[in-house]
Amino acid sequence: MNMETKVGNKYQATEILSGFADTYFGFFSYIYPTNFKIMRKSLALLIAGILLTATVTANSEADKKFTDWKENTFISQLWAMNPVWASQQGFHKYDAVLSIPDEAGMKSSLAFLNETRIKLKEVNTDMLSDANLTDYKLIQNYVLSGLFYQNEFKEYEWNPASYNVGDAIDYVINNNPAPLDEKLRNLSSRLEKVPAYYAAAKHNINKPTQEHTRLAIMQGDGLLSFFTDVFPDSLKLSKLSVTEKDAFNKNAVAAKKAIEDYVAWLKALQGKFTAENTRPYAIGQAMYAKKFNYDIQSATSAQEMYMKAMARKTELHRDMYQLTASLWPQYMKGTPMPQDTLGAIRAMINKLSEKHCKPEDFMATIEKQMPELVQFINNHNLITLDPKKPLKVRKTPEYMAGVAGASINSPGPYDKEGNTYYNVTPLTSYKPEKAESYLREYNNYVLQILNIHEAIPGHYVQLIYSNRNPSVIKTIFGNGAMIEGWACYAERMMIEAGYHKSPEMQLFYDKWNLREVCNFLLDYNVQTYGWNTKEVGVLLVNEGFQQSAEAEEKFKRATLSQVQLASYFAGLTEILELRDEVKKKLGDKFDLKAFHEQFLSYGSAPVKEIRKLMLK
Ligand code: ZN
Ligand code: ZN
Repeated sequence: MNMETKVGNKYQATEILSGFADTYFGFFSYIYPTNFKIMRKSLALLIAGILLTATVTANSEADKKFTDWKENTFISQLWAMNPVWASQQGFHKYDAVLSIPDEAGMKSSLAFLNETRIKLKEVNTDMLSDANLTDYKLIQNYVLSGLFYQNEFKEYEWNPASYNVGDAIDYVINNNPAPLDEKLRNLSSRLEKVPAYYAAAKHNINKPTQEHTRLAIMQGDGLLSFFTDVFPDSLKLSKLSVTEKDAFNKNAVAAKKAIEDYVAWLKALQGKFTAENTRPYAIGQAMYAKKFNYDIQSATSAQEMYMKAMARKTELHRDMYQLTASLWPQYMKGTPMPQDTLGAIRAMINKLSEKHCKPEDFMATIEKQMPELVQFINNHNLITLDPKKPLKVRKTPEYMAGVAGASINSPGPYDKEGNTYYNVTPLTSYKPEKAESYLREYNNYVLQILNIHEAIPGHYVQLIYSNRNPSVIKTIFGNGAMIEGWACYAERMMIEAGYHKSPEMQLFYDKWNLREVCNFLLDYNVQTYGWNTKEVGVLLVNEGFQQSAEAEEKFKRATLSQVQLASYFAGLTEILELRDEVKKKLGDKFDLKAFHEQFLSYGSAPVKEIRKLMLK
């Protein structure tokens, strides 16, 4: 397998790129991929020489030494060990390299992790600035989770879909501003390694899950389009010599054959699957607890967080029922309210979902909401927004089409003057029924919440704050639960402050929040108890008021990934708890705006580390 794809953000980013994007924000892509794309150029520049302009306020010799080590030694080694990840991040020195996941490859990867662990032990963390301390914790988690993934989680044995050269090819061609000929030479040497890569894959796989095998077969077939379309077209445009073109073609033919062989081999395995030679998709309670600790980096255990999610579900149902009862006479005159609590809520949600904009007005509606959000935040003194960095709503560019209906494109930490875009795919391209179902979901109420989450003061504002304190480490290892948690917290905070205050708005916020809760419960139950499609249906459709098609997709995704779906609720919960603690500590002196600004000033560090710094 690609040993690089197991850790932290890289894994999450890969998850999206390899096709099972978050269906929660199915329309709005997870923040990392687009963000990475924008950052790549600046990151390459940084590593090429701007390292001199380190921004840390060094307050000790030890601090300076740590800065030097992390920015020079550590990052250089990290990229050398992870050439595909480096290409993705815009560091192209290793574009011609592909790591082979054989015994030697795994050994050197383990050695790097162990050496880094020893190096970290030598650092006196008391002497580090806050900025370096959070970076230290992020590197430490990278090392410890890397060791966990390799020694215990062992996805390389059971997940055939973790072997995929799509990224290795894609980032060389599409992520590098270099001339085409240079890119093709790099690609040619990567392709040369592909047969050895898949040979190692076959050697490693032992009792795979049926679900990941199916996914790998699907993705393998998808890879072949590189060979039939992209490569011939690129070669035609290039000025490579005949000898170079021949070499490229030879490597490409061998690589294509290796992929086809791998898929055929998986299909043969699949034909002979039994309960004995496969394993269930559920990783089990003990493994889940560990993965939760490494991925979320929460101060709370998975089990405790599960109890909190259960309690929140009950609370939300109670609140939603009260709201439904209060709205009933107004909207359902003459119809008796069903005895069944959940049925009554569902009827009210269905009724109110009809309030939505026309497909042709979708973009304009979003555009109009941006200044309203800014005004509200300013009037209520919630957080300082930078008027010099307005968010531009635009039609999703062609090259990004198919990735997601919309996304945030933000400049990286070293490209501060760049624009941030809110890409929206116009619904006029949808069939009428699809547009209608979509608009019922993103109705007048939910669209507001979505804009808060994605844009203001959610992901977009968080990125602006985190870019003020540029740290390559925080860019690479940014904590997903903090990032998603902040966007979810932004929704809650705006509703609390009274944004578009009404019982209808509250009802839809509750539904939205319930989805965050259900994501957690789904992930936890599917991965620890092996819940099946029927049990999932009860949770998502009956109790979560979701559509059954959406629930099916969610279930499929929950069998293929672990813990990522839990990050929304976990991050949100930790931020709310931290806010309570700070309130308690400061009493009358508590200031919401100051809390937000301090919280965001640490970059995308885990909430538990931010907590330590804020309560210090
Ligand atoms: Zn309608
Ligand atoms: Zn998000």
